[in-house]
Amino acid sequence: MTKISPNHPRYKSLMIREKLVEGFREGYVVAQGLIAHGRGECFDYLIGEDTIPPAIKSIKAAAAALLLAKYPVISVNGNAAALVPEEIVKLAKLTNAKIEVNLFHRTRERELKISNVLKSYGADEVLGIQEELTTIPEIFSDRRIVSVKGIYIADVVLVPLEDGDRTEALRKLGKTVITIDLNPLSRTSRAANITIVDNIVRAVPKLIEEVNNLKNSTPEELRNILKGYDNNEVLKEVLKHILDRLYILSKDLSTIS
Ligand code: ATP
Ligand code: MG
Repeated sequence: MTKISPNHPRYKSLMIREKLVEGFREGYVVAQGLIAHGRGECFDYLIGEDTIPPAIKSIKAAAAALLLAKYPVISVNGNAAALVPEEIVKLAKLTNAKIEVNLFHRTRERELKISNVLKSYGADEVLGIQEELTTIPEIFSDRRIVSVKGIYIADVVLVPLEDGDRTEALRKLGKTVITIDLNPLSRTSRAANITIVDNIVRAVPKLIEEVNNLKNSTPEELRNILKGYDNNEVLKEVLKHILDRLYILSKDLSTIS
């Protein structure tokens, strides 16, 4: 691993890159995943590399949806496994969710490697590998392949860093889709029921915190959180946040931290 000084102004961001590069060298992050991360980083710069108020709303709604779910599933790809493996396992245990590997660039080798990474952090079971698989309609990549014990029968799916096609297909199947995506304009962000516009490395720990805060709430209280949630409004608030921030910066660049 490249040595990076903690005093470097972009230390955090560089450390995230190092994790992805490590996953790439180990053969479970694909080159396309590195590029997708770059798109995310650009939006992170625009929002200010912090969890912004609209994301906090989405995190609360996501926690409520996961706690209300009968059969929640967390879908994991190479980037998610490289960036937040421990947190994914923790969140799955807390919410009684299944973990399923689901890859756009699918190979047996990558599936097994991702499963092993998650197991090394304590996952008891990782779906999408050995058990019976099936396909969901209207997706033209390998991501259409899902586990009959996982996404296929799930009512709520958390699909971080997802592709737009698949989000739309999962919605058509009647699933509640929660995503984590730094780009508020992506098809995924617009098609999901709940979009957390935040970096996955900040969002998942905060989601765990929120699940812990809400876990003793009544179903009624959780349903009320969801009733008051409007994803389009949240996406508009994110864009407004970016606009306001850029407006302030356009007056005085020294306000950037
Ligand atoms: P869509 O298919 O939804 O229209 P896209 O084709 O632009 O989006 P994909 O490569 O399919 O993008 O999905 C990756 C998404 O993940 C991107 O929108 C990117 O902004 C986002 N992303 C990348 N890295 C991170 C990260 N660390 N945290 C959160 N989001 C991220
Ligand atoms: Mg896409």
